[in-house]
Amino acid sequence: MEAVRLPAAGVNAAERFTTRVTANHRLSAKAFELTLVKPLHFDFSAGQRLRLEFDGVQRDYSIASAPAEADLRLCIRQVEGGRLSEHLARAGADVRLAFSGPFGYFTFRTSSHPAVFVATGTGIAPFCAMAGSGVCGFTLLHGVETAADLYYRDFLQARATAYVACLSASPPGGPAHFPGRVTDYLQNRLEPRTYDFYLCGRQDMIRDTTLLVDAQFPGSLVYTETFY
Ligand SMILES: Cc1cc2nc3c(=O)[nH]c(=O)nc-3n(C[C@H](O)[C@H](O)[C@H](O)COP(=O)(O)OP(=O)(O)OC[C@H]3O[C@@H](n4cnc5c(N)ncnc54)[C@H](O)[C@@H]3O)c2cc1C
Repeated sequence: MEAVRLPAAGVNAAERFTTRVTANHRLSAKAFELTLVKPLHFDFSAGQRLRLEFDGVQRDYSIASAPAEADLRLCIRQVEGGRLSEHLARAGADVRLAFSGPFGYFTFRTSSHPAVFVATGTGIAPFCAMAGSGVCGFTLLHGVETAADLYYRDFLQARATAYVACLSASPPGGPAHFPGRVTDYLQNRLEPRTYDFYLCGRQDMIRDTTLLVDAQFPGSLVYTETFY
C-alpha cells in the first residue's frame, strides 16, 4: 500500500461565512441531515468539509451535498452530550450559524484502479457529495449497526457498481446485507487486486483498514478522512 500524504488539513485559505438553517430532518435515531443556505461565494469540491462555529465551539463537518446543488447539506451524528451536535440536532429553521471553509483534500481522483469507498456511520457524507457530482461505478461499504442507519442507501446504490451494507448488530431478516464489520468484508469477500481506497469515519476503522490493505491489496492507494 502506498500511503498518500496530502497537505495538512486547513492550510488552504478559507473564508468565513454566515448562513441559516432551512431544514433539519431525522435520518435515523442517531443521525440527522441539516440543510443550510449556501452563501453566494462559497465554492467547494465534493469531499471537502466546512467548520461550523457556535457559541465558541468549532467542529468540522463533511459536506454531503454536491457543489452544484443550491443548498448545503450536512449529515451529522447526534453525539450524546456532544457540545455542538446536540445543539445542531435541535436547530430549527432560521437558526443562524457561522462557518469557515472549505477545508480538506478528500476528493475523488480519476485512476485506472477501481475505487472502493468505505464509510462508518455519518462518514458516508463525502461519498454522497462525490456521487452527487457524477462519480459512479465505485464499490461502497457502509458500516453501521442496523439497517435503520443506512441513510442515502437508494441514492448511493443507484450510482455504485456494488453497494454493501455491513451491519454489525443486525437482527435476522431485513434488507440484503453483510453481517459484520467493513473490515470483515474486505478481509473475506473483496477480490484481491489493486484498488484506490477512500476511507471515512472512525479512526479505529481507518487504522484497521489501512493495515488490512497493506497485507491484502498490495499497490493500492489509501485516502483517508478521520472523524474522531
Ligand atoms: C475532518 C472531520 C470531518 C467530520 N465530519 C463529520 C460529519 O460529516 N458528520 C459527523 O457527524 N461528524 C463529523 N465529524 C465529527 C465532528 O466534527 C464532531 O467531532 C462531532 O459532531 C462531535 O462534536 P460535539 O461537539 O457534538 O461533541 P464533543 O463535545 O466534542 O464530544 C463529546 C463526547 O463524544 C465523543 N465523540 C465525539 N465525536 C463522536 C462521534 N462522532 N461519535 C461518538 N462519540 C463521539 C467525544 O470523544 C467526547 O467524549 C468530523 C470530524 C472531522 C475531524
